[in-house]
Amino acid sequence: MSELLSRSHALALDAADPLRGFRDEFLIPRHDGGEQTYFVGNSLGLQPRGAQAAVQEVMGQWATLAVEGHFTGPTQWLGYHRLVSGQLAQVVGALPSEVVAMNTLSVNLHLMMVSFYRPTAQRPVILMEAGAFPTDRHAVEAQIRFHGFDPADCLVEVQPDEADGTISLQAIEQAIGSHGARLALVLWPGVQYRTGQAFDLQAITTLARAQGANIGFDLAHSVGNLPLQLHEVAPDFAVWCHYKYLNSGPGAVAGAFVHERHHRDTTLPRFAGWWGHEEATRFQMAPQFVPSVGAEGWQLSNPPILGLAPLRASLDLFQRAGMDALRGKSLALTGLLDSLVQARLPHVLERITPADSERRGCQLSLRVIGGRERGRALFEHLRAVGVLGDWREPDVIRISPTPLYNRYQDLHRFVDEVDAWVGR
Ligand SMILES: *Cc1c(COP(=O)(O)O)cnc(C)c1O
Repeated sequence: MSELLSRSHALALDAADPLRGFRDEFLIPRHDGGEQTYFVGNSLGLQPRGAQAAVQEVMGQWATLAVEGHFTGPTQWLGYHRLVSGQLAQVVGALPSEVVAMNTLSVNLHLMMVSFYRPTAQRPVILMEAGAFPTDRHAVEAQIRFHGFDPADCLVEVQPDEADGTISLQAIEQAIGSHGARLALVLWPGVQYRTGQAFDLQAITTLARAQGANIGFDLAHSVGNLPLQLHEVAPDFAVWCHYKYLNSGPGAVAGAFVHERHHRDTTLPRFAGWWGHEEATRFQMAPQFVPSVGAEGWQLSNPPILGLAPLRASLDLFQRAGMDALRGKSLALTGLLDSLVQARLPHVLERITPADSERRGCQLSLRVIGGRERGRALFEHLRAVGVLGDWREPDVIRISPTPLYNRYQDLHRFVDEVDAWVGR
């Protein structure tokens, strides 16, 4: 075996890793007296140590200031959502005015479609991927029906055209081209949750806009995983959640992006609420809705401050590490995992995520050769020994090494445990 695939090389990489200190900023779950080997940042990121202090701060303000907490001090609740906008904008490559932390992903997807899915008899179609995350499929179908159209006619799903269930840019181009004049909206993922395929957001945006369609992205598996340039790429909107790679806790407050070109468009329909009203006159409590300029204008309610607090702690870590450095380590981690699996487990695991690192983030989706029963048995074995991935029916284990808290040696732990199970 090549020296590069040895455990001692992995230990050397860990020792030389400039980001290695970030692992200590997280609470690592325990297993059998040691640390669990956690590869599920794609599903629920680990808890940053700073999260508890951020929540405690709000609890303290509530205890001592009560209603005055809305207007007192640098972390007053009135503008609390804005405390995260600057750092969040850096993570997604946007202007601070283009992002807002609010609601949850599915809610934000509906709110964005209210504004950016505006079907007409000539242009009623939403184009999306086949096999999308269920909430996206449900929301799209519901929106089409809400406008009095028929999903059988107005929902176009692009089928995977590549051997492992991934979708080529050519297939997307062909679909957008052939439905062009009827397209109202293209809704696309940044990274596909099941296969781990990353898409070329710029190319898809350009294709959609060339046909006169709106374009929105679901970035649930992209944010905090890949560097993004949303302002430059210039989709109409994007939505994401913060509990996956953004490590902000179960059911964390989610995010939304609205491109600057829409910020002053008062003709856009939106489901308005008082927290989207411009701040200067909000408390005059007048009946007429005057939206805040920017993504903030899509807010409905005064935000759950306790829910936003952990996001501040998490974003501090992203700010300190930087998305480019994180992506650099992520490429090395996932590249090593891929090499180890190809070299040592070709008879057990088959990667369905693209081989090209430009076409994936940190996640590798590994199909267990031999079918569902064998796959479940392997997955349960890994869980029993404290190596946590996640399971996707019928036979896929997803392993997502994240650069903030995973180490190169963790990859050996995974491969060694699979090896041991096979050799039993
Ligand atoms: C995780 C995920 C969701 C989750 O939606 P919630 O509203 O946060 O429950 C939606 N879409 C995609 C693509 C996801 O990966």
